[in-house]
Amino acid sequence: MFTFTPTILKNLVNRPATRKYPFVKRAPFEKYRGELYSNVDDCIFCGLCARKCPSVCITVDKKTCLWECDPFACVYCGICVDTCPTKCLHFHDVHRSPATEQSLLTMHGAPKPKRKAPPKAGDAPEKEAAPKETESKKDAPDKKKAATEKKAKTKK
Ligand code: SF4
Ligand code: SF4
Repeated sequence: MFTFTPTILKNLVNRPATRKYPFVKRAPFEKYRGELYSNVDDCIFCGLCARKCPSVCITVDKKTCLWECDPFACVYCGICVDTCPTKCLHFHDVHRSPATEQSLLTMHGAPKPKRKAPPKAGDAPEKEAAPKETESKKDAPDKKKAATEKKAKTKK
């Protein structure tokens, strides 16, 4: 009895060690992996997330600009988030709500305009080369004129 007395007195004056859930909820930790979310406007539909996903729960269709995930098969490993080249995948800091029926997370985007390939290091820019040719052509009649004038002077 006397060995427990200090513990009893300590618990009477200290705050409780647990929270009164669901009235009091703990704030999520930093980098908490909750529900997976895709910012589909930034998605380029490369399909890398689908190829890397270990549970094969992501489907990407580039033609129809569709990104789909089965959250019931997701194991929240975060590989898709880490490998996405445009960083458009994120985790919300809350888990999805319990459900009685399975549903897919479906997102439709818009097709992205194609980028032009950058010029290679050895290639000369065509636009800059073109005016030089036209200038030399323009100068050609002046040179001819000057040559004929010179000939005429020498004859005199
Ligand atoms: S890896 Fe990123 S950009 Fe590529 S399809 Fe997946 S979400 Fe879209
Ligand atoms: S978190 Fe892991 S299991 Fe879930 S969709 Fe991404 S890669 Fe797949």
